[in-house]
Amino acid sequence: MREHLIPKKWYKRLWQIPVTELVNNGIKGVIVDLDNTLVPWRQEVSAASDKLLKWLEGLKRAELDICIVSNGGSSRVSRFADKLGVKYVAGVPKPRRTPFKKAMELMGTSPKETAVIGDQLFTDILGGNRSGCYTILVTPQAKKEFFTTRLIRVLERKIKTHLELQGVFPRQVSGGGNKDEDL
Ligand SMILES: [Mg+2]
Repeated sequence: MREHLIPKKWYKRLWQIPVTELVNNGIKGVIVDLDNTLVPWRQEVSAASDKLLKWLEGLKRAELDICIVSNGGSSRVSRFADKLGVKYVAGVPKPRRTPFKKAMELMGTSPKETAVIGDQLFTDILGGNRSGCYTILVTPQAKKEFFTTRLIRVLERKIKTHLELQGVFPRQVSGGGNKDEDL
């Protein structure tokens, strides 16, 4: 279980992940979490930033497929998928492997060709690693989230600190210190 909680990389924001990093690692499809990864928790698609849209365009230009995998309600998730022009899987909770498998089926990619990007160790990173994908952690965009998620964050922080002290957790790539780039 322990090694399954360690992401390959940790970025502050998803749009800081270089498309070349994905391509150079043989990635052909990207599974992205919705809440606090694409947009702050519970926000609608109007909250999608220009940086996010530009980053998604870059992925598409590099011919990478994109699929949102979210525990959120399927009508909201499908609104995002339609607006952003990507695929989606909703209604099957992470970290179960089923939603990741479904997403890979939709994109026609193998686990080795698939990256999983999300803000939670116990759902996105655990599920992505168990599925054999290339996992990237991002820092949550907002502090607001479900009460239960906030409780899980306490445990997440403990585990992260423990793994950091052991030197096995990646350092956060912060985007070169330009604060504007982070938000
Ligand atoms: Mg999330």
